Amino acid sequence: MQPVSGIFPQLTASPRKVVITTHQKPDPDAMGSSLGLYHVLTALGHQVTVVSPTNWANFLNWMPGCEKVIDFEYRRAEAEAVLKQAEWLFCLDFNTLSRTKNMASLLQELNCTKILVDHHQQPETTAFHFGVSDTSKSSTSEMIYDFIVESGQGALINVSVAECLYAGIIGDTGSFRFPATTAGVHRMVAQLKETGFNHTKVHENIYDNFLENRLRFIGMVLLHRMEIMYEYNTALISIAKSDLLKFDIRTGDTEGLVNYPLTIQGIKLAAIVIDRDEERKWSFRSKGDFDTNTFARTYFNGGGHYNASGGRSSDSLEKTVQKFKASIRENASLLQ
Ligand code: 5GP
Ligand code: MN
Repeated sequence: MQPVSGIFPQLTASPRKVVITTHQKPDPDAMGSSLGLYHVLTALGHQVTVVSPTNWANFLNWMPGCEKVIDFEYRRAEAEAVLKQAEWLFCLDFNTLSRTKNMASLLQELNCTKILVDHHQQPETTAFHFGVSDTSKSSTSEMIYDFIVESGQGALINVSVAECLYAGIIGDTGSFRFPATTAGVHRMVAQLKETGFNHTKVHENIYDNFLENRLRFIGMVLLHRMEIMYEYNTALISIAKSDLLKFDIRTGDTEGLVNYPLTIQGIKLAAIVIDRDEERKWSFRSKGDFDTNTFARTYFNGGGHYNASGGRSSDSLEKTVQKFKASIRENASLLQ
């Protein structure tokens, strides 16, 4: 993988067919970084399409350009056609093709120039021609801001770009509280604010945009589905398919749920497992020196960041919960 700056001279050379993609079930950083870049490359005269491997939460629909994003699972023929014609493929907020689910084999086969911009650990660098992978960055949205400015296109950052990138930054920094929130992040946000975008509106669009059923669901989960294991400073939430059906829970409704147990004094590791159709999906969050990336890779076929990772299991809900409890016992010394 060559440094991402290798692509800079080509950005203004001639118009290209470009696809931007991201990980399955895109979160605010995945969607915000993709659409931020989309607006800038479009303004430079390129023919740009954002393709998402799956659907996404409704609370992202307000983002400028979101209405043009193609859902690979829902509009497969159209998505395949644009992917096959792409001259450049930007891969944002993931670093191994498997995170694009059913799209992975097609991405692997494409002969176009592949460019990676990502902040997760252990990148599959051989899969990309150009790129930047930096785990010290708060978010991929911060890295797209750097990409735009360092390529000399900072003047193209308008209100739409600022809204998209800001959404990604607050999503991945927990609204500026996680350790990766450097002085540089605050300086970048100050620059974004110069466009005049309304940051209060962005927070409301993302965090105050749910239906009543979701809040009732959270109440039920915290009361009946959360187990605290004080001897391991660990909290576990497990959610059955019947719970999702009963409360009509949709994509995005469970986002952030894993953070609630971390508000309890002394809790070092919070885990949530959700019984999805094809798999049991795990999320892990930690405080301090428990490495969730290693934990997720070792036991749950996943990965991510030091303090926030995800994984999956094909076991039943009961079985994967048992496995979690056994793995916590194995890691007891790290959880004291
Ligand atoms: P979440 O728990 O919100 O799904 O994910 C937390 C972090 O871990 C995100 O940065 C996400 O991209 C990453 N992540 C989630 N699931 C997986 C996975 O299965 N594999 C890898 N490598 N990363 C994951
Ligand atoms: Mn991210």
